[in-house]
Amino acid sequence: MSRAADLRDATWGRRVTYSRKVFVPLTNMCRDTCGYCTFVKHPSDPRAALLTPEQVLHQARKGERSGCKELLFSLGEKPEQRYAEAREALAAQGHSSITDYLAEMCALVLRETSLLPHVNAGTLTDAELEKLRPVSASMGMMLETVSRRLAREGGPHHACPDKLPVQRLRTLERAGERKVPFTTGLLIGIGETWEERLEALEAIEAAHRRHGHIQEVIIQNFQRKPGIAMEHHPEPTLSDMLRTIAAARLILSPEISLQAPPNLSKRHVAYLGAGINDWGGISPVTIDFINPQHDWPELRALADSCDAAGFALEERLSVYPRYVAGDAPYLDPALRRRIASMARQDGLARHQALEGAA
Ligand code: SF4
Repeated sequence: MSRAADLRDATWGRRVTYSRKVFVPLTNMCRDTCGYCTFVKHPSDPRAALLTPEQVLHQARKGERSGCKELLFSLGEKPEQRYAEAREALAAQGHSSITDYLAEMCALVLRETSLLPHVNAGTLTDAELEKLRPVSASMGMMLETVSRRLAREGGPHHACPDKLPVQRLRTLERAGERKVPFTTGLLIGIGETWEERLEALEAIEAAHRRHGHIQEVIIQNFQRKPGIAMEHHPEPTLSDMLRTIAAARLILSPEISLQAPPNLSKRHVAYLGAGINDWGGISPVTIDFINPQHDWPELRALADSCDAAGFALEERLSVYPRYVAGDAPYLDPALRRRIASMARQDGLARHQALEGAA
């Protein structure tokens, strides 16, 4: 573990970053039914929704007023391919596919606000990536696991076509071919073996070596929630989490940012000791829709615990500094100028929200 921390120090120094963002759950309908998911709602559930452009803008403006720089679109996978209700809701917005509607909403956010869209749209085809690239500063999709066993009957990914590892690995590859700054990661404790975890990290590293596009890897721990299929499944222990973080730091190229979500553990200092350099998105205005029972840490409290461990907490953009710099091919020309104007010389956010929050 100390070797992982030393490696982190050598590349990232004693600085730990976060992104101030607003979450917009464009739709919580999804054609998959992962055993650990609380985000997804069946169309028969009154809480199932496709946000209208007005709702998207309302949320975006709240984020803008609170100093956010990033707008994260999270959404279920291709609900229109399974549910008539999703097709009807999209048709009411003039679309037949969720990706087309997402691209239009990203363009709306770029036109009407100062925020940078980041999309978590799951598995994507070549054509879908092409459509989203000019309107999304960066994209993400958790690889989660490479275990095919977990897609068998009784497993958390049973009957989830988008959770077949081959589909997710294909999206990682396609994003690399299109030079999209990309976020991915592992969900640990859903039934995978230690070897499968290492295999997943090695697959991410291999894609990065081919294309250089993996900007960050999230190590996320499975959390039990009432009402999910896995509500009685054991959670990974803290030591399991720390071992995985350290293994990730040792396997992944040093320039890949390593992140663990701060709202999923109060053990900030332990995570720092295992080699992370980033806390991911922290929202001053919205709950974490994926883990709604966990509050975001109050920013000042997080800064204080980083400080006590010898780290400075600083705000970054959704795109990491090395993709902002120079004439790197990772940003669409339409977005490059805008992103550069939001970044200071070292590539982090020009306006640091914490500076004004003391
Ligand atoms: S985790 Fe994602 S893909 Fe799985 S059911 Fe939930 S929204 Fe759908």
